[in-house]
Amino acid sequence: MTTYFEYPAPELQEELRSIANRIVAPGKGILAADESTATIGKRFADIGVENTEDNRRHYRQLLFTADKMVGQNISGVILFHETLYQKADDGTPFVKLLEERGIIPGIKVDTGVVPLFGAEDECTTQGLDNLAQRCAQYKKDGCHFAKWRCVLKIKKNTPSYQAIMENANVLARYASICQANRIVPIVEPEVLPDGEHDLIRAQKVTETVLAAVYKALNDHHVFLEGTLLKPNMVTAGQSCPTKYTPQDIAKATVTALSRTVPPAVPGITFLSGGQTEEEASVNLNAINQFPGKKPWALTFSYGRALQASVLKAWAGKTENVKTAQEELIKRAKANGDASLGKYNPGSIQGVAADVGLFIKDHNY
Ligand code: 13P
Repeated sequence: MTTYFEYPAPELQEELRSIANRIVAPGKGILAADESTATIGKRFADIGVENTEDNRRHYRQLLFTADKMVGQNISGVILFHETLYQKADDGTPFVKLLEERGIIPGIKVDTGVVPLFGAEDECTTQGLDNLAQRCAQYKKDGCHFAKWRCVLKIKKNTPSYQAIMENANVLARYASICQANRIVPIVEPEVLPDGEHDLIRAQKVTETVLAAVYKALNDHHVFLEGTLLKPNMVTAGQSCPTKYTPQDIAKATVTALSRTVPPAVPGITFLSGGQTEEEASVNLNAINQFPGKKPWALTFSYGRALQASVLKAWAGKTENVKTAQEELIKRAKANGDASLGKYNPGSIQGVAADVGLFIKDHNY
């Protein structure tokens, strides 16, 4: 095994490190607004809005024209390709609206999941072809970080060795291509919440998956200080009969992370994974209050848990835009507080704060 390799040039290290650190600055996290056209269509169907390009633009305009105070708790937004090139009604590019709020634009660069041949309903994620060229263009167009989501499933015989190794390796290859193009990779190996498994089983699977991911990142000479991890919180399966407290979830999550994620990683930005808005805030708060070793920032990169109340309040109507924007600011504040361990459960209400957001076999 060779031990001869190059670290990135000092200027590149500094650029990547500073982007990653800005994203996980105290009290801040990410809004994941990178739903694919099909996925946002499902969200719109729930509120009776037609999935047209202009409705998608109107909805994202609502998010990105919220009061500038949103920038106190949101440091980055993950965009879908179409959204990156859209403009507000007055012609202002969305990227500019984000920058005016001190928010760093990011981009989803994977092209979705495909089945693994011979596996028991497992998958890998595609998108490496042309990734270097796409990253170079996205950087020119104002994006400084990227997301790539891999999916692992807990069943009787899964995740398999095949799925664990393949997904770890594709995440590492993606991360190295991003860094070569001055983009901070968010590494997302999501262990899905589908199933009846208990908390301990979820913890063991998460530990095994994360250990493989960090071995692969090391094999690919990825500069960890210029990366972020986007994992699932360790929760029991959605259909598990045993119910666990936020403190149980916090202990399982921090323990799994402390065993597998090197301290060189600046931050961990959890996905919400079908938790209600309030659960996602309360669990993040408990994680930050947990008295274990936590050498990284622990914050949020939520999609559903930052947008459920916004979508419900908006319902596709112009006259509701302001109220919907207030819902976004409230949830961002709740999660910003939770990332500091200072959220008082129930203290910030939302019109859909307690609505279940679980989606079977969730696709993004
Ligand atoms: P959820 O917070 O809705 O799980 O999604 C976050 C995300 O970006 C998944 O890739």
